[in-house]
Amino acid sequence: MNKTEAMLCMDIGGTNCRIGLCGRDYTLYEKEIESTERMTENGFSDALAALLRRFIDQCKDRYTIAGISLGVPATVDKARRRILQAPAIPGIENLAVCELLEREFHLPVWLEKDVNLLLQYDLTYLGLPTEGLIIGIYYGTGIGNAICLDGKPLMGRNGVAGELGHIPQMKNDRRCSCGNTGCLEPFGGGKRLNELCQTVFPEESIRSIYRDHCDTVEVQSQIDAMAIAAATEINILDPEYVVLGGGVLQMEGFPTETLEACIRRYVRKPYPERNLRIVYARPNQENGIIGAGIYGWAQAARR
Ligand SMILES: [Zn+2]
Repeated sequence: MNKTEAMLCMDIGGTNCRIGLCGRDYTLYEKEIESTERMTENGFSDALAALLRRFIDQCKDRYTIAGISLGVPATVDKARRRILQAPAIPGIENLAVCELLEREFHLPVWLEKDVNLLLQYDLTYLGLPTEGLIIGIYYGTGIGNAICLDGKPLMGRNGVAGELGHIPQMKNDRRCSCGNTGCLEPFGGGKRLNELCQTVFPEESIRSIYRDHCDTVEVQSQIDAMAIAAATEINILDPEYVVLGGGVLQMEGFPTETLEACIRRYVRKPYPERNLRIVYARPNQENGIIGAGIYGWAQAARR
């Protein structure tokens, strides 16, 4: 029997880990979901290796696996070999994950920040150009950010460029999940909505907070913080395109027009505001894992 060539891809998230095989045409096969909490119970890195082992064993008769491509909600080193800081997942900080898995499986392993993989997906499926500077802002629990310059993630000196959620704000003494005080993320991330449900709207479910309370000062100020994040980066970088996405934008009653109007209010006039191009990510739970496939295949071609 002819085997199908595939990239083993994994999108590691704060709640779920998605694993699957991505073909050269980015078709996803054999996908599975595992609870991240369960994987952290007895140490995440052991659970990760065990999950990959089982997955490879059950697929190896039907697929030729070209490599392993991982996306993580974390900062990673410039060489894309080591996880640096991951507030959402205990026990993986400073983990040399590529080396560990390459030794175990004798396959090349590629690592990237999850948001960079989301943007890779969006660039491909929205048909955006690979030249110039394109930014992606993904509003989930936090504020994820990817900056793509000529088709490649902007790295910075240490590999940690684009930490937009951690732009400091004046008169802000809130502690952020990154450890610093004063970051924007606790105000503009989805976590803020949770907080509002616990304090200001105790009868409300987070799912319908925009539908039922969009016009309140509290929700408007959360949307304002989302806009400040986007406008900050647009004013610095004057990008070709701005891709907006993430679970918050998919919530019932989310006021997309209000967010856009708010962003435009903060962006400098006449440019970059006048010809600002905002496009929206395609909502799909599998964007991250397919993005890992796109990235993995691109890396494999460079070897
Ligand atoms: Zn922070």
